[in-house]
Amino acid sequence: IAATSKTAIELEDAYGAHNYHPLPVVISRGEGVHVWDPEGKRYYDFLSAYSAVNQGHCHPHIVKALTEQASRLCLSSRAFYNDRLGAAERFITEFFGYEMMLPMNTGAEAVETAIKLARKWGHIHKGLNDDGYVIGVEGNFHGRTMGIISMSTDPDCRNGFGPFIPNITAVNPDTGAKIRYNHAEDLEAVLKAHGDKVAGFLVEPIQGEAGIKVPEPGYLKRCYDLCKQYNVLFICDEIQTGIARTGTLLAIEHEQIRPDIVILGKALSGGVYPVSAVLSSREVMLSIKPGEHGSTYGGNPLACAVAVAALEVVRDEKLTERAQSLGERFREALRKIDSPLIKDVRGRGLLNAIEVNPVAGKTAWDLCLLLRDRGLLAKPTHDTIIRLAPPLTITAEQLDECTDIIVKAVADY
Ligand code: PLP
Repeated sequence: IAATSKTAIELEDAYGAHNYHPLPVVISRGEGVHVWDPEGKRYYDFLSAYSAVNQGHCHPHIVKALTEQASRLCLSSRAFYNDRLGAAERFITEFFGYEMMLPMNTGAEAVETAIKLARKWGHIHKGLNDDGYVIGVEGNFHGRTMGIISMSTDPDCRNGFGPFIPNITAVNPDTGAKIRYNHAEDLEAVLKAHGDKVAGFLVEPIQGEAGIKVPEPGYLKRCYDLCKQYNVLFICDEIQTGIARTGTLLAIEHEQIRPDIVILGKALSGGVYPVSAVLSSREVMLSIKPGEHGSTYGGNPLACAVAVAALEVVRDEKLTERAQSLGERFREALRKIDSPLIKDVRGRGLLNAIEVNPVAGKTAWDLCLLLRDRGLLAKPTHDTIIRLAPPLTITAEQLDECTDIIVKAVADY
């Protein structure tokens, strides 16, 4: 174990791939809304591991489920049944109101699964013959695998990684124009021309990595209606927005839509263990037959125990309601900050962002360093946006204290 923050950073730098650019802070312990560095300095966590830790760090109920299951059975593989999976599948599908689920581990794997599921469903139900499309939108972030980055419009995600997988795209195949988020007419143009060849439309109800972009009311409903019109599966990536984060169990509920496929990850385990899942109807799910898709660790007993416990915490601690009311309180307080530095405050529930006006060459990164020094950890997305997403277990008093930290850091900027 690295003894100091300095040695931990040096070791990662020397022996780990440089595929991240972390804020210079080392976390060695977490409890609830707080994390500590090896020197004992305490911070509020305002990233929550990209909304995986909605239930707070090391939640005792989830850790207990993990340790109890770990001492009994960790992994069976799907070559055999295990005594946890069926019950967990029933619990999770009932929790979200779907008929069936397919368990995976990471978010990206679940998105890949949803894409394959849509294509297979299109093959069976729309007569697609390895020529079907899965359509995304500009600014999407669904993960890092080849299938997923084939629809990315972010040069950092794509450059140098081609060739990409055909027909997984956020670009109009006829015009080459990007299919814009928040512009249902762009999706409509594609479906009008190629609706019979489109298996699925994949969308985030709020774009997370793009900078907490909340679409106009009615946009997602319009997309959903277009999907119904052209018999296209509406696939909702709720990996970052789902599981109480935005003040509803799923963010898509704000639009009163029930997607054909929902993708979950991150907070499905409360940050304790990688667990992801795809939820859908029997019709869609049974498009995939035995031997056609899977994962050695997907649906393992440890993951099942952890996921059920993580959702019990969401239910028992009323995290949805907390996110809703605390989110309003937080945005109201942030909007009162009278500074030319703050360009915008936006979000839903406890998934929020401030957008800053860069001053004298300083960026959101510099403000994050000031926040860190004052005991609050947040990470910039792009040069000017800071996501503010604490665990949903935060109290109103703690949130007010954090608002105060933000106000003072802005004043120092
Ligand atoms: N989809 C969304 C909306 C995400 O925010 C992320 C991760 O940030 C993913 C998919 C990918 O999840 P993972 O990093 O677990 O593969």
